[in-house]
Amino acid sequence: MTVVRLLDVTRVHGEVHALRGVSLEVSCGELVAVMGPSGSGKSTLLNLAGGLDRPTSGSVTIEGRDLAAVKDLAALRRRSVGYVFQDLNLIPSLTAAENVMLPRELDGVRAGPAREQARAVLEEVGAGQAADRFPGQLSGGQRQRVAIARALVGERRLLLADEPTGALDTATGDEILRLLRERCDAGAAVLLVTHEPRYAAWADRVVYLRDGRVADATAVRLESAR
Ligand code: ADP
Ligand code: MG
Repeated sequence: MTVVRLLDVTRVHGEVHALRGVSLEVSCGELVAVMGPSGSGKSTLLNLAGGLDRPTSGSVTIEGRDLAAVKDLAALRRRSVGYVFQDLNLIPSLTAAENVMLPRELDGVRAGPAREQARAVLEEVGAGQAADRFPGQLSGGQRQRVAIARALVGERRLLLADEPTGALDTATGDEILRLLRERCDAGAAVLLVTHEPRYAAWADRVVYLRDGRVADATAVRLESAR
């Protein structure tokens, strides 16, 4: 089943053509790595795929719904899409558990169950001890796990991760990839932006962007690096 489909999508900012006609589908159970030089449109692609930005032309469909026709895009995003941003975007005045439960509460889940779900997913990503700490009290690796937990909570079908391994050491980076891969194997669709061939090796497909276009796509599953 296709979770996200981009059809001939362009995105223009004034004079800048960030994307110039990209088509891409990601299915349940598929992890697609997006690679390419800085400025090639990787983050733009992710933002469009998750409905955080709207295309200048072309269409984006999530779980069969054309985003152009969706009235409450925020609600669809909260239910279906989990993001891990480059800069994490954790709220410093909330504990790790509160950060993770926030999207559930915004979606109408009551505080008790939302907190239980948050703790369970924090445990799952190996950040159970961080639950009652604030982001500022955590190491970079722990903060990253909390951000991943926030993206996973609520069983979202589409996970978008923009260089989630950022400045992490390779052991923590591998752990993050293992978590994304597990969710994928459990049925999620994952789009992962990465510069590192080491992490792209966990993907089922690699899409290379150059100047806002798909320059190359390989469908080889590179088992050797796992
Ligand atoms: P990448 O993530 O591959 O580094 P981006 O998707 O961030 O690339 O950006 C692609 C191109 O679009 C770049 O030239 C960038 O400067 C431009 N761009 C992205 N967002 C905006 C924006 N909001 N306004 C103007 N230009 C933008
Ligand atoms: Mg980027």
